[in-house]
Amino acid sequence: MSGAITPSRTATWSRSCADATMSSMSRDVVELQLERVKAHLVLEPELSLIDCGYAGSVPGIQRGIAANGRDPATLRRVVITHGHPDHAGGARDLAAGGADILIHPADAERLKITWRDVVRQPSRGHVFAAMTPEPPHFHPIEDGDVLPMLGGLRVVHTPGHTPGSVCLYGERDRILFVGDVLQRRFGRVSFASRLYSDDYAAARRSVKRLAELDVKTVVFSHFTALEEGAAETLARLAREVG
Ligand SMILES: [Zn+2]
Repeated sequence: MSGAITPSRTATWSRSCADATMSSMSRDVVELQLERVKAHLVLEPELSLIDCGYAGSVPGIQRGIAANGRDPATLRRVVITHGHPDHAGGARDLAAGGADILIHPADAERLKITWRDVVRQPSRGHVFAAMTPEPPHFHPIEDGDVLPMLGGLRVVHTPGHTPGSVCLYGERDRILFVGDVLQRRFGRVSFASRLYSDDYAAARRSVKRLAELDVKTVVFSHFTALEEGAAETLARLAREVG
């Protein structure tokens, strides 16, 4: 295990620990690198997690929590940016461990889809839903809800990638968690994947709302966080939508 800490509270540090690699982009946010996706741990007295990887990710999440000096059994809530299997797959097991699962109802509904439904009505969205274990219960989150994390984390409904995709905005830290609503391929920020989005045009339109926020840091699920020129980048994308 090795690491380097710089004085700035937005500075990045990282260390390796089993299969979880962590770096922090805000005072209280730690990145957990899971298999092919990142989850974000919010280290406050109430422990929260944003997204939870594929089914089977829970041991890695628990190791990541423990590596940060916290008890995995005290995980209070998991906020799901959308119902794709690499973001919501661990939710059932984490719910069984006592965590509240928060997800937009439009995506929670889709997690009820079974392989039988896929056979009846095949689509990529249905296949992804059938791949994702449905949590036994969930707490619906809607546009405008403010979650008790990071001084108030606001839910911004940004449908398109999936119907229930949400971004999470923390005004205090000017931090925006975008899930898969934006990508950062080869360093350049672009719209959601056309291939993996239910409604690509809607996904693009949703980005206009993000440009109205005062953002310093954009946190992605599959790419390195953007900490330089975030506002200009969001404004550029909004202009591209027209
Ligand atoms: Zn996705």
